[in-house]
Amino acid sequence: MRRLRRIKILATLGPASSDSAMIRKLFEAGADVFRINMSHTPHDKMRELVKTIRNVESSYGRPIGILVDLQGPKLRLGSFANGPIQLNNGSNFVLDSIKEPGDETRVYLPHPEILAALKVGDALLLDDGKVRLICEETQGDRAVTRVVIGGKMSDRKGVSLPDTDLPMSAMTNKDRADLEAACETGIDWVALSFVQRAEDVVEAKRMIRGRAAVMAKIEKPQAIDRLEDILEVSDALMVARGDLGVEMPLERVPSLQKQMTRMARRAGKPVVVATQMLESMISSPVPTRAEVSDVATAVYEGADAIMLSAESAAGKYPVEAVSTMNRIGEEVERDVTYRTVVTAQRPDPEATAGDAIAGAARQIAETLDLSAIICWTSSGSTALRVARERPKVPVVAITPSLHTGRKLSAVWGVHCVVAEDAKDQDDMVERAGRIAFRDGFAKSGQRVIIVAGVPLGTPGATNMVRIAYVGPSDADV
Ligand code: PGA
Ligand code: MN
Repeated sequence: MRRLRRIKILATLGPASSDSAMIRKLFEAGADVFRINMSHTPHDKMRELVKTIRNVESSYGRPIGILVDLQGPKLRLGSFANGPIQLNNGSNFVLDSIKEPGDETRVYLPHPEILAALKVGDALLLDDGKVRLICEETQGDRAVTRVVIGGKMSDRKGVSLPDTDLPMSAMTNKDRADLEAACETGIDWVALSFVQRAEDVVEAKRMIRGRAAVMAKIEKPQAIDRLEDILEVSDALMVARGDLGVEMPLERVPSLQKQMTRMARRAGKPVVVATQMLESMISSPVPTRAEVSDVATAVYEGADAIMLSAESAAGKYPVEAVSTMNRIGEEVERDVTYRTVVTAQRPDPEATAGDAIAGAARQIAETLDLSAIICWTSSGSTALRVARERPKVPVVAITPSLHTGRKLSAVWGVHCVVAEDAKDQDDMVERAGRIAFRDGFAKSGQRVIIVAGVPLGTPGATNMVRIAYVGPSDADV
């Protein structure tokens, strides 16, 4: 099976999409990576989903990525004694440490460290920003706030603190337990929610010990201020527009999306654009024009992947949502303007042999109109550097590591094939041709370019390019 687009699709699984038949349909419709959201998935269910996805993967013989998304430190209010309350503009409302149900004047905030960190003037956004409070007075274990935008408030609603540097890591005890369970189950990517600083990612990596790659979700202003540092230690970024749009003015989200996409592309690390991409498809079989345009924008920017959340997890039309993304991806990438736009953002090669070779391979392939760039890669780094070039010519990655194959399923334009390592250079060239032929990337008599590190299996030692003919004998397989 070969995709006809370069951008990848991540589909979140949930009640609308947890059985094998549905996961199969989503894969066929175009989902390249499945996301399991630990905010809503118990360990047993997570393990069952992983097993189902792995079965689907082996029946198609194509690597499929699994991303486990940790809930992170999502802050919540306590409860109210007599049901929902009304907060009126201009009135005072107190958050305190008293474990008693709240009323119109106060509520319990079960996070003492937050009460201690709040400063006068800090904003508090309740229930996805629907209600806005400003801190007027802090007394260590309680904060007096004024209601700036009022509204109804009920039990355990979320609290966002865009102005406060939270004295906590991006992982709660629940996250640590979820992370360990996910790594034991054998997944490919872990997404960290509400990352504030590079140390949050480093801490997670220490626990993961190389068992999965780490995607930092950028959804807090504190992370925007430290984007370079966070990107440096992460394996990928997610533009988590849901919470980002609560913690920052909504109108800043589009420019931040562009900034993050470009920064990640420059670093050669995958970037995923997430949340509300086809939101109306939760209840409608067709998207709005604005949604189609939003998906197209991410494709034009050369993002690695676009993501579905509730659309595929809990909506009425999960398959239609995936196939809609698939069609938009294919159509945009056929547009001549797409090439110009994507190429305009191409970063220069860094001063490494790997980048020099990736750049040269792209140039040779485009100049000679070759059928594909085929890279032999063990860790995946060669394929990542080739993908960073966003070549016009298809990229095929051959790897002996199933883990690498699955990880690369989130990367722009990489068609990954898991196969035994080549015995020698002749074997490498011959099998590259055969695989390109088999998977529909080259016909007999066409040429491909092969990129590898010789001797094979030395990570990061890309040092070879070779142009080869796909011969008639390659059709024998
Ligand atoms: P979430 O993350 O769906 O886990 O909240 C994505 C986002 O905030 O956009
Ligand atoms: Mn979020």
